[in-house]
Amino acid sequence: MMVTTGNVFVGAPGSKWFDNTLENLKASPFEHEIFDGDQAHARFPRLRIGEGELAVWEPNGGVSLVQPALLAIQQLGREAGVEVRYGEKVLDWSAADSGVVVRTASGEYGADRIVVTAGAFSNKVLGLNFPTRVERQVLANFRMDLDAERFPATYIAAPPGDDSAPSYGCPEPDGTFKFSVVGKGNVIDPDALSQDVTDADLDRVLSIVRDRIPEIQGDPVSTTVCMWTESEDGHWLIGRHPDSDRVVLGAGCNGRGFRYAPVIGSILADLTEGVDHPELARFDLSRYELDRLHV
Ligand SMILES: Cc1cc2nc3c(=O)[nH]c(=O)nc-3n(C[C@H](O)[C@H](O)[C@H](O)COP(=O)(O)OP(=O)(O)OC[C@H]3O[C@@H](n4cnc5c(N)ncnc54)[C@H](O)[C@@H]3O)c2cc1C
Repeated sequence: MMVTTGNVFVGAPGSKWFDNTLENLKASPFEHEIFDGDQAHARFPRLRIGEGELAVWEPNGGVSLVQPALLAIQQLGREAGVEVRYGEKVLDWSAADSGVVVRTASGEYGADRIVVTAGAFSNKVLGLNFPTRVERQVLANFRMDLDAERFPATYIAAPPGDDSAPSYGCPEPDGTFKFSVVGKGNVIDPDALSQDVTDADLDRVLSIVRDRIPEIQGDPVSTTVCMWTESEDGHWLIGRHPDSDRVVLGAGCNGRGFRYAPVIGSILADLTEGVDHPELARFDLSRYELDRLHV
């Protein structure tokens, strides 16, 4: 479920994401080392380190395998009495003083409270108008000359002055190396997501991956298009629905919701039981004017 590959973050001091990452690591208990250009080149000969760049190495970094992790979470849920239903679309819900009714394609369910975590579809399912954007993201998988499994999970910071999120890649269980250049401004309607990849999409990925990992010169063996939700201020939306305390919601994950799922899940469970988390006020919906949230 978790493969320890080590994590390398390459960037130049002055690059926003690189500096922030380093600052956070220094304040954390996580083991890490900082290599200058020559050291980084010796340590990571398969990776091109640019002039003036550093590499931050986290030996315990790794890749969480999504499918096994989701299956494990569902299994733990079943053991705790959860019934998992697949392929049953929620059509709508309504909340009253007595409880919540959820209507799906297969029937109706009554509950005291519900938790909604509908990802890119959050606004649609919640009937709200969060200031979020659903961004299309393109991933490409490549064959490597040498063993991809020995390549660390890799982040490449954009140069100083460019606030784009880092490009990233990691070895995949099928022996390929996955790489993505984070797209910004490629906003879509989640219902319109397609797997079509354009030449411009590929050029963006190829221009960085071929430069940074020179052994990758061929075309990708596969591509995937997916989407994530960016909130206006880059923070989660965690709290209760403005129209009903009975509806708890978690949304606006900004491309990093997976790794925090266990802790966010625990917070959402607390909220259903009336346990508040004032320390998480920055994620609360009260930071928005109510008028803005309603459709
Ligand atoms: C390319 C890419 C790379 C990423 N990399 C990372 C990473 O390295 N680390 C990290 O932590 N995160 C990463 N993320 C982000 C992470 O995947 C999301 O933040 C996380 O999946 C959000 O979890 P969620 O449960 O809120 O939503 P989702 O995982 O999107 O789940 C929402 C679910 O709700 C279902 N749903 C929606 N509408 C309805 C309806 N009407 N009825 C029934 N079901 C419905 C959907 O089908 C879906 O199964 C990445 C995302 C992408 C796209």
